[in-house]
Amino acid sequence: MYRTHNCGELRKSDIGKQVSLSGWVQKMRDKGFMIWVDLRDRYGISQLIFDEQRTSKDLLNQAKSLGREFVIQIDGEVIERASKNQNIPTGDIEILVKNLTILNSSTIPPFTIEDNTDGGEELRMKYRYLDIRREPVKKNLILRHQITQQVRKYLSDSSFIEVETPCLIKSTPEGARDFVVPSRTNEGEFYALPQSPQTFKQLLMVAGLDKYFQIVKCFRDEDLRADRQPEFTQIDCEMAFVKQDDILNTFEGLIVDIFKKIKKIDLNKFPKITYDQAIEKYGTDQPDIRFGMEFVELNEICQHKNFNVFNSAELVVGIAVTGGNTFTRKEIDKYIDWIKTPQVGAMGMVYVRCNDDGKFKSSVDKFYDQTDLKNIAKKTNASKGDLIMILSGDKNTVRSQLSALRLEVAKNLGLRNSEEFAPLWVVDFPLLSWNEEEDKFHAMHHPFTAPKPDQIELLKTSPGSVKANAYDLVINGNEIGGGSIRIHDKSVQEQMFKCLGFTKQEAEEQFGFLMNAFQYGAPPHGGIAFGLDRLVAILGGSETIRDFIAFPKNNAGRDVMIDSPSKISPEQLKELKLKQDL
Ligand code: ASP
Repeated sequence: MYRTHNCGELRKSDIGKQVSLSGWVQKMRDKGFMIWVDLRDRYGISQLIFDEQRTSKDLLNQAKSLGREFVIQIDGEVIERASKNQNIPTGDIEILVKNLTILNSSTIPPFTIEDNTDGGEELRMKYRYLDIRREPVKKNLILRHQITQQVRKYLSDSSFIEVETPCLIKSTPEGARDFVVPSRTNEGEFYALPQSPQTFKQLLMVAGLDKYFQIVKCFRDEDLRADRQPEFTQIDCEMAFVKQDDILNTFEGLIVDIFKKIKKIDLNKFPKITYDQAIEKYGTDQPDIRFGMEFVELNEICQHKNFNVFNSAELVVGIAVTGGNTFTRKEIDKYIDWIKTPQVGAMGMVYVRCNDDGKFKSSVDKFYDQTDLKNIAKKTNASKGDLIMILSGDKNTVRSQLSALRLEVAKNLGLRNSEEFAPLWVVDFPLLSWNEEEDKFHAMHHPFTAPKPDQIELLKTSPGSVKANAYDLVINGNEIGGGSIRIHDKSVQEQMFKCLGFTKQEAEEQFGFLMNAFQYGAPPHGGIAFGLDRLVAILGGSETIRDFIAFPKNNAGRDVMIDSPSKISPEQLKELKLKQDL
């Protein structure tokens, strides 16, 4: 028998038992006449002791031949440890080994396989199977497992059925580029890997399945950004006969349930704000609301003096940093330098100190007197001891700059605590966004998103102003999920394609199958998809999704372990009728 117990379960109450364990040698301490070995498996670590006096010299010598990551099996007796280790659950006992079998040897691993490792990220990715032996990585995969199990249970208990949709499909324009797969048997033709199962889940609603979900891999050939994966997992859902609030309630229930069951945290009712409010108050549609520092527009009270920077700006906007007057001049200068870096791109920052004596001191005292500054403080709700930071410029640009500054200040003040969770719904997204380069509208969410019912007419006259029945779930400044009520009417869908610049023929070619289906009684429907990788990372208290994916790609989109993507042979290319040098 390989094992009677695992390496994490023996306790004081097992003292005296004869046991067998199997696992990996994590660490050895050789005292000459005694050797201790930390034996590791998925469940924990048990200390083994080989003792010349209590067993035999031969056994001790056999133990001396062990090395890190050897796979061994032992039989022995559970005894009380002389010096206990409070840090691990098995720390009161050790196993006096009576028999050792080496099941496999190991080459010296390229990095230390312990909680704290000396291995850099790239090296650990190359040997991911060794990295996963480490507790911090393994723990993340177990968390992911628990969350997916809970999602399945919750949705299944709520009458959703899990349906698999195909991976080899046809391009659906959802904002990103498709990964394509050449078809050998259909020369010159290609499949696309799904960016999401969007059209299929809508067809399942036409098919009458009523409530669908799938934990599904999606693929997007987007430009690489930090912490983006070309393949990622969604919890994809769709429901028939629902309005927006039905969807929000159902999936708020799911998220609340996950936090309760997995983290033992009770979340309050999620606030709901509109897209326009989010942009005005936080400068982003994915606001972090764990802290305040909401934007306050200051045009009215700032544009009546001779300060040209403000006077010429489309928007003057500020935040009050509670307690920020303790920032030294140097610290403030550091923020000013930071916002001038190309990644933020601001020209400068005006600040107002709210001193304890009730007086104000600003970087623009030349232009604004105490009354002006008092008005600014009043408008921004700043009190004694606070600091007001003000940016100005073109509306869109200045909002995103102040949003970046708000997050940076909050991070430095320790306001972005990863154990605190602040979810919210952002609703009423615009239906379309204007693309300057292509000189046409793009669907803000995707082309199947329904306009607000009372705005359908506006599609003809002022499409840019139409709001959609679309919503996002945001937690701690991250978009965790997004969805919409769909168009289920063939003529509205045709109108939408028209707004997006599709000719009738193009719409027919790409989406004929969906439009056809809509002729056969499509029910009103809507849905949502959550990014599983990000959701798990947030519950795991981390910003890095890579740590929660068993075999992730690096920031250049490569799998450095299997070395992919890679070239294919001339024979394969020929078989696929693909030319090598195009
Ligand atoms: N398919 C959408 C997405 O991947 C989600 C949805 O609308 O349900 O973002």
